[in-house]
Amino acid sequence: MKIPFATKDQLEAIAAKYPTPFHIYDEKGIRENARRLRRAFSWNKGYKEYFAVKATPTPALLKLLHEEGCGCDCSSLTELMMSERCGITGSDIMFSSNDTPAEEFILADRLGAEINLDDITHIEFFEKAVGHFPRRMSCRYNPGGTFVSANEIMDNPGEAKYGMTRAQLSEAFRILKSKGVEEFGLHAFLVSNTVSNDYYPQLAAILFRTAVELRQETGAHITLINLSGGIGVPYLPDGKENNIDIIGEGVRRAYEEILVPAGMGDVAICTELGRYMLAPYGHLVTRVIHEKHIYKEYIGVDACAANLMRPAVYGAYHHITVLGKENLPCDHKYDVVGSLCENCDKFAVDRMLPKTEIGDLLVIHDTGAHGFSMGYNYNGRLRSAEILLREDGSAELIRRAETPDDYFATLVW
Ligand SMILES: *Cc1c(COP(=O)(O)O)cnc(C)c1O
Repeated sequence: MKIPFATKDQLEAIAAKYPTPFHIYDEKGIRENARRLRRAFSWNKGYKEYFAVKATPTPALLKLLHEEGCGCDCSSLTELMMSERCGITGSDIMFSSNDTPAEEFILADRLGAEINLDDITHIEFFEKAVGHFPRRMSCRYNPGGTFVSANEIMDNPGEAKYGMTRAQLSEAFRILKSKGVEEFGLHAFLVSNTVSNDYYPQLAAILFRTAVELRQETGAHITLINLSGGIGVPYLPDGKENNIDIIGEGVRRAYEEILVPAGMGDVAICTELGRYMLAPYGHLVTRVIHEKHIYKEYIGVDACAANLMRPAVYGAYHHITVLGKENLPCDHKYDVVGSLCENCDKFAVDRMLPKTEIGDLLVIHDTGAHGFSMGYNYNGRLRSAEILLREDGSAELIRRAETPDDYFATLVW
């Protein structure tokens, strides 16, 4: 069972002030989860989570996470600028980008960010753009092939555009070292949205072994290992959940088995989680504006795929609660649809829900990450407001809804 973090009365009161659709985030849930993550990795002295800004690029949320000890993982110019304007700078920024424009390296360097190079050719590109190297540089590893866990193929790094080959890593470390870089980091992101307590420990073991080899081969002093993103959340109501304590413990075991005996017990671990930090603590709140009865039964809502594209693009499941009808039997089968002139604009297909009527308020669950941020303006649809539900129950507007003026602002007539 998935229960919304706000009641029908609360959300109706908010909707009276800020018209639907809107995204709302739960401060209490976000803080508690961030603290659980920090506790799970507290065995590692230098541990830091860099929140993947692309998942939810909203200053109020970045600042809230910063209060909980998180930095920002940026991968574009505007993400770096937003981080700076939030007062999150220096080693509180991880810059993990790919196909990177020169101006982004320049800004990342000016902000004193940790810089993670996606490719060996970026060494020369960076040097040309920036003119020097920071004390510490990281490199992104792509081991190729398939990533297998418990006899199951979880993803195909060999098909991914990211990172350097194993041979390139050795070469990159040698070159960077010859250019005066003193400390090194190692990063890899191999599988997205994992619901397995084994993913991080398995990835950690790969990175730890590679770090030991790299130190032996190149003499590089490796001080940072970045497990990146990829810890998932259960989108299905009875979906399996990750246990962050078991994950943290699994990484600790790999650390003690591989790094400590190699004399590398000073390595700081970091993560760049996005989905895990926020997805469950966001709802898209939308109102039913139409019912349609043709070959199938349709419920038309005032949100559309421009507000949440995961169902349209990935066929992703997002649970739906019809507020006030939580205890009624789910005995009606609906497609819950938005207004885009695209037949993929369906939040749910053949979903069993209680009898739903015009005026009902719906909560679409787990939209706190890769939700609002993937929004777009197709069909001239406008981006919605974002609201933060404070721990004291008050609702704070943290991004206003777009207006037609915003939509027209870039046009040349
Ligand atoms: C997208 C991304 C993340 C966050 O991924 P999640 O699946 O949201 O945890 C972290 N690091 C990099 C480099 C990314 O591209």
